[in-house]
Amino acid sequence: MSDMLDRRILNRAAEHAAEFLDSLPTRPVAPRFTRQELLKILATPLSDNGEDGVGVLDALAAAGEGGALGTAGPRFFGFVIGGSLPVAVGADWLTSAWDQNAGLYAASPVTSVIEDVAREWLLDLFDLPRESGIGFVTGCQMANFTGLAAARHAVLRDAGWNVEEQGLQGAPRINVVIGAEAHVTIHVALRMLGLGSKNAVVVPADEEGRMRPDALRSALSGLEGPTIVCVQAGNVNSGAFDPLAEIAEIAHGRGAWLHVDGAFGLWARASRKYAHLAKGIELADSWATDAHKWLNVPYDCGVAIVRDAAAQRAAMTSSAAYLVQTKGTERDNLDWGPEFSRRGRGVTVYAALRTLGRNGVEALVDRCCAHAERFAKLLAQDPRVKILNDVVLNQVLVRFSDSDEVTRETIARIQRDGTCWLGGSSWQGRGVMRISVSNWATSEEDIERSAEAVLRSIPG
Ligand SMILES: *Cc1c(COP(=O)(O)O)cnc(C)c1O
Repeated sequence: MSDMLDRRILNRAAEHAAEFLDSLPTRPVAPRFTRQELLKILATPLSDNGEDGVGVLDALAAAGEGGALGTAGPRFFGFVIGGSLPVAVGADWLTSAWDQNAGLYAASPVTSVIEDVAREWLLDLFDLPRESGIGFVTGCQMANFTGLAAARHAVLRDAGWNVEEQGLQGAPRINVVIGAEAHVTIHVALRMLGLGSKNAVVVPADEEGRMRPDALRSALSGLEGPTIVCVQAGNVNSGAFDPLAEIAEIAHGRGAWLHVDGAFGLWARASRKYAHLAKGIELADSWATDAHKWLNVPYDCGVAIVRDAAAQRAAMTSSAAYLVQTKGTERDNLDWGPEFSRRGRGVTVYAALRTLGRNGVEALVDRCCAHAERFAKLLAQDPRVKILNDVVLNQVLVRFSDSDEVTRETIARIQRDGTCWLGGSSWQGRGVMRISVSNWATSEEDIERSAEAVLRSIPG
């Protein structure tokens, strides 16, 4: 029997989903099940004849009940993880129900046009060059990959080499310059592009993790030929921005391509209060960001933006590299990212942006930053707490009793307590607790409750 039109299944999924989402504000943030407990629910023998879909969804929901972290909830402050706006979850369901192959216009006119419109909205919101190309990719990892692939194309094209056709063997050498605080995904992107994760010239950073322009200048002065400079808008720990305007002038003065990893930081552009942090970012050549972080759409959704749209297309297209996009023609999404067949990833972005509007996105950014500031203030009242970064955006670095040991123990206790979830990292050789506020649903009360939970978790 076909399940195709079995409404019981879709309704059951909607019920389970709503129950889970409803429970987010009150459920413990940490997972309750061990791997063994999850296996007990999930690792049934693969049956010969299959099972009823409703029962399968029930089993999945039971596993998710104790095996999912409350990352989408209002008191999850680990990594940099957004929640999901209800409309974005709904749009994601619709995307799945449509089940479009969004690679080609011919296979899905609706997702092609949605991503076209979302492209224009994003360029407008970020105030980036309106002629830029955009690819909707799985996350900022692939956005960095895509931006740097376009960079690789362009700097070698300018040196008379077609890297898509001829590859890297025998190609002019590409100099890659990165900051000491470059996110690990930059290293991975360089690795995947054949540029090597350990070949880059590393420019030292200042105490907030920002690339030092004077050091960039001297690094570039020793380099000849095709050059790519990678900077970041929003350090994953401190939230600090590299001094982009100054760096752009230096990099372009040497004829280099400038790529910006703005996984969450690019969203500061949507806020009148925080846009100054990213001043000069519009001068870069490519930008990578995430929608699944600060725009609060479900995973997986990143955005790769390239000023020289022809370079992006040449690096990514599955058709001939010499085809140049002409305005007004239909968008084939596969021209703008590494994938061929894929889901209509821009649909959730469209839904979120249309629902929030300009002011809604700004309010989301401003609110998260205000919460981060308040969180830091509440913690700093305790003499055992030290805030190690300038809280310029939504990230806070906290150290307890100036001790790695106490900091680690505090984090472990917070995670056991379950009121909120916070993780650790190391910052300039010292153990820290990281706070990232990136969820639309976080309220002031969530911040107060979480700060209390943190303070009562400090041992001694
Ligand atoms: C999260 C993050 C990435 C990687 O993004 P994914 O969406 O996880 O692939 C890259 N750079 C920075 C600064 C980040 O915060």
